[in-house]
Amino acid sequence: MASLAEARALDDADPLAGYRRQFAIPPGLVYLDGNSLGALPLGTAARLGEVVRKEWGEGLVRSWNDAHWIEAPRRIGAIIAPLIGAQPGEVIACDSTSVNLFKLISAALLMRSGRKVVLSEPGNFPTDLYMIAGLEAQGLAERRLAERGGLEAALDEDVALLLLTHVHYKTGAMHDMAALTKAAHDAGALVLWDLSHSAGAVPVDLNGCEADLAVGCGYKYLNGGPGAPAFTYVAQRHHDAILQPLTGWMGHAAPFAFTDDYAPAPGIERMLTGTPPILGLAALEVGVAQIAEIGIDRLVAKSRALGAFLRAAMARFAPDLECVSPGDPAARGSQLSFRHPEAYALSQALIARGVIGDFRDPDILRFGLAPAYIRFEDCWHAAEALGEVLASGEWKREEFRQRAVVT
Ligand SMILES: *Cc1c(COP(=O)(O)O)cnc(C)c1O
Repeated sequence: MASLAEARALDDADPLAGYRRQFAIPPGLVYLDGNSLGALPLGTAARLGEVVRKEWGEGLVRSWNDAHWIEAPRRIGAIIAPLIGAQPGEVIACDSTSVNLFKLISAALLMRSGRKVVLSEPGNFPTDLYMIAGLEAQGLAERRLAERGGLEAALDEDVALLLLTHVHYKTGAMHDMAALTKAAHDAGALVLWDLSHSAGAVPVDLNGCEADLAVGCGYKYLNGGPGAPAFTYVAQRHHDAILQPLTGWMGHAAPFAFTDDYAPAPGIERMLTGTPPILGLAALEVGVAQIAEIGIDRLVAKSRALGAFLRAAMARFAPDLECVSPGDPAARGSQLSFRHPEAYALSQALIARGVIGDFRDPDILRFGLAPAYIRFEDCWHAAEALGEVLASGEWKREEFRQRAVVT
């Protein structure tokens, strides 16, 4: 049975333990929400200060060349690439995940003209479904949803694109990327993976699975900061054919030739649209460089160990709470989720005790395990606090039922 002594022993033996000191985590806080907003790397504030004062303040417009601002989207994409099984020139940092979804869904529909169906699953992350709906409203797409297990059967000759989130944001259940990508290809469809809850936390092999397209967030496990730019992946073999609809000048083959006619850049840069947000990219670069330095294998090993320990601690302190995440560590993301009809009030009562997890409507309590900075002891304290909150009934207090704008 899990114990505090065991947690401390695991922390002492943790090869990543030193990385925690590289983050600004408030003392006494148990932060299990790095899959919603990653913690602040200590290097970020210093780097932003330098970019603001030196590169912007002194270098001014010269910094586009001298400080290599113009290369930031590709440079950061290259750092992300090994985390997701891609080649450096296949990934670029730009825009939000939502905007990148729009660009890639549209591009996939163009590459499979004659087909209109975008297949996804009910309960996928809302923005993924809403982006399909937006293209449907324009008459460009037709949305089809099929439950897990029924996806292969729903792949027919009308499907242009299979769009799935690799790790489910609520339950943490992970799709079999290799099998579903192959099934989509066998049906003549392309596949687009949303890696928002995967990048930097679970093994991803886009090249090995022959995945076509992918997107993902910069502000979750990659620690890029609130609203950080996202990333886009396009397999090398599609670089000549892919055309995205937001044909801004930064995706042009020669942006500074200022010609009247659009010609897409030859490589991954054709996925760009407008001027890169340098401050946001500078923060993202610090986050991804640190995660890449730790390396995905070590992150995955720690994530699985944390998951196993949190499960054991929860079994001790809250044995009746239903865990909705898969038991097999290889089949889930870096999180554990639990179901309770009063999950919102529970999450608020936990926050009052200094344990930040997440509530996901209507009844999910989610604990994200960011392996770069979470300790086994954090998992212990979270489970103990939850046990106390349940036993005391303190979650029933009125103040814990008031919903804020962001939940
Ligand atoms: C967090 C998340 C997003 C967020 O998209 P934004 O455009 O950054 O708001 C998209 N998809 C999934 C699966 C997510 O978990």
